[in-house]
Amino acid sequence: MTDSGYWPDRRSLVSRPSKAELDRLAAEIAVERLVEERGIALSGEDTVKVGACPWCDTVAGLTVDREANTFSCSGCDAGGGPVEWVLAIEACRLLTRSSFCVRGCR
Ligand SMILES: [Zn+2]
Repeated sequence: MTDSGYWPDRRSLVSRPSKAELDRLAAEIAVERLVEERGIALSGEDTVKVGACPWCDTVAGLTVDREANTFSCSGCDAGGGPVEWVLAIEACRLLTRSSFCVRGCR
């Protein structure tokens, strides 16, 4: 492939991030910040905070562990780190827009 000088290499547009890249992002991005950017208020002690789950009706079901940089919900099977949060939020956003979402995301 020739270098046009403007368009990025087509291969870079379809390549997946490496495991190392995902691990670096997960270490650098706080789940707490992602949750709050979603408009979910968190309360509680310093290490563990709770809030409303965006995927189910459990008002204080969402738990954010700031030390482990993870989230989980007692009302549904949601859980993981920053990468899983973004994947789940974006998947729901796209599916809701397409009217295919069956989980009733907010
Ligand atoms: Zn939930």
